[in-house]
Amino acid sequence: MTRRHPLWRDLLDDDEVAGLEPGLPDRLPRTPDVLVVGGGMVGVATAVACRRAGLGTVALVERSTLGAGATAGAGGLLVPEAHHDQDSGGIVDLGRLSLALWRELDDLVPDGVGLVDMDWLGLEPGPGLSARLPSGAEMLGAEDVARLVPELARPVDAVLVRQQARVNPLAALARLAGGLDHVATGVDVTEVVARRGRVVRVSTTAGAVSPGTLVFATGGPPDVEGLVVSVPASLVKGHIVATEPAPLRLAVAMPPLVTQVDGGRLLAGGTLDHRDDSPGVDDAVVASIRADLEAALPAVGQARISHAWCCFRPTHPDELPVVDRVPRLANAWTTSGHFRTGILMAPATGRALARWIESGDQPEEVGGLELARLGERLDIEEESS
Ligand SMILES: Cc1cc2nc3c(=O)[nH]c(=O)nc-3n(C[C@H](O)[C@H](O)[C@H](O)COP(=O)(O)OP(=O)(O)OC[C@H]3O[C@@H](n4cnc5c(N)ncnc54)[C@H](O)[C@@H]3O)c2cc1C
Repeated sequence: MTRRHPLWRDLLDDDEVAGLEPGLPDRLPRTPDVLVVGGGMVGVATAVACRRAGLGTVALVERSTLGAGATAGAGGLLVPEAHHDQDSGGIVDLGRLSLALWRELDDLVPDGVGLVDMDWLGLEPGPGLSARLPSGAEMLGAEDVARLVPELARPVDAVLVRQQARVNPLAALARLAGGLDHVATGVDVTEVVARRGRVVRVSTTAGAVSPGTLVFATGGPPDVEGLVVSVPASLVKGHIVATEPAPLRLAVAMPPLVTQVDGGRLLAGGTLDHRDDSPGVDDAVVASIRADLEAALPAVGQARISHAWCCFRPTHPDELPVVDRVPRLANAWTTSGHFRTGILMAPATGRALARWIESGDQPEEVGGLELARLGERLDIEEESS
């Protein structure tokens, strides 16, 4: 029977499972220096970056379990070079920086974050791409591609980019969170109270917290009583399937998301199901991913689909994330709308936020990702003193 949850969950060890749901620790600090709201990859990476930057006591609260949002269902690819098509805002450069930071985190965390190196084959690269490729990337003709991936039914011209990477997003999340001192799950942030342009109190389902600095990493824009950031935002559903171990060994990963993972399983999909906002897996989409996979790689043969799942990517109309200080609040930041690349971008986003909090100056690498470009309307309730 096909399991209708992400493969990642079934690959976790007991410590990782426990790490995703620490519950409410006895000593959740009530006056942390930094409070991060949201326990997806971006929130956890931000809390890790704040801790590494020495910003004092860092606490993170998540309303459900860690990774409960888009993070659990992501493909886990760390491939900046696959995103030249959406690069209106230096997103490839930010992704390259973030991949380098993922490697740093892999060295920093005991036993690593589970980062696996892989090469990426971009099929039929668009014009103009070659000028922006990293050193070491190779343009291949169809014959070279056929030699590299003999399993491909219809070899085409491609670009081969080496030293890209992937993670099991849930395992990486659990391992990163394991290095944090104060993580609480099952804690919903419900209200923000501001006074004279500063957040002074945050109400949660586990009581009040008065942080020095507040960071929202809630997938979409913050929407809590006392602070509503109204920018256009939506969710785009996507499906992924994983097969049983397949009778082939792929030398590279390829679009759309075809990657060989643990034990020879193939991951495929990453659909953009724009008009579907229903929560469940759509069997017709799963069947079409399977058919495309088999048409591309006939050697997949009878390998059964073991897992099929869907999740929702938070996004803004220009498909770029927001990384910004909340206007009119000196001690609140927000990041949202990481769409197709939030796993990749998490470490660079986190580091930029930590640096911004520390110095007060916007880091160059997140220039262009401000709320203002989306015409934000803020609803902040100030408490009278
Ligand atoms: C099919 C698919 C494939 C993908 N593949 C990739 C990929 O290969 N590589 C890649 O880089 N990206 C990929 N992505 C994108 C990636 O999943 C997202 O960009 C990323 O997970 C966003 O992370 P986040 O932390 O911003 O949001 P989320 O993971 O959604 O986390 C936000 C968290 O905030 C919590 N929260 C919200 N409000 C509150 C509150 N008031 N109080 C407390 N907690 C709150 C939520 O419960 C949630 O857990 C994919 C996405 C999809 C759907």
